[in-house]
Amino acid sequence: MNIDGGCHCGRVTFHAVVDPERVMICNCTDCQTLSGSPFRVVVRVSEDEFHLESGALKTYVKTGESGKKRAQRFCPECGTHIYATSAEATAEGEPRRFGIRVGTIRQRRDLVPKRQFWHRSAQPWLGELASIPTAETQ
Ligand SMILES: [Zn+2]
Ligand SMILES: [Zn+2]
Repeated sequence: MNIDGGCHCGRVTFHAVVDPERVMICNCTDCQTLSGSPFRVVVRVSEDEFHLESGALKTYVKTGESGKKRAQRFCPECGTHIYATSAEATAEGEPRRFGIRVGTIRQRRDLVPKRQFWHRSAQPWLGELASIPTAETQ
């Protein structure tokens, strides 16, 4: 599936080819802090399927619970996180995997998560989301 997207201020734009079966939710505490939200939704792609069209990304490297270093790439102007990838060298000829933040993708309505990870730190109220009163706008 062809997708395109960008950051909030518009400086960063990209396009990619993604597999809608590879959309997942991460409930880890790092994703909660980095997104400022209860969880993060990403779609995993190979680096050669991701194309930055405009803008330059800034990198923040975090060390995960596993000890692995992960590069978080974001727009230096508005702070929108675009994707994360391994900050360590990959085996020769092996492409990096990018986890694109689904909220930056224009076609995000069509990208429904298929799996959840780090459920042990998921917010306990997520299962009751449908019962929380809603308003269509502010
Ligand atoms: Zn931006
Ligand atoms: Zn996470």
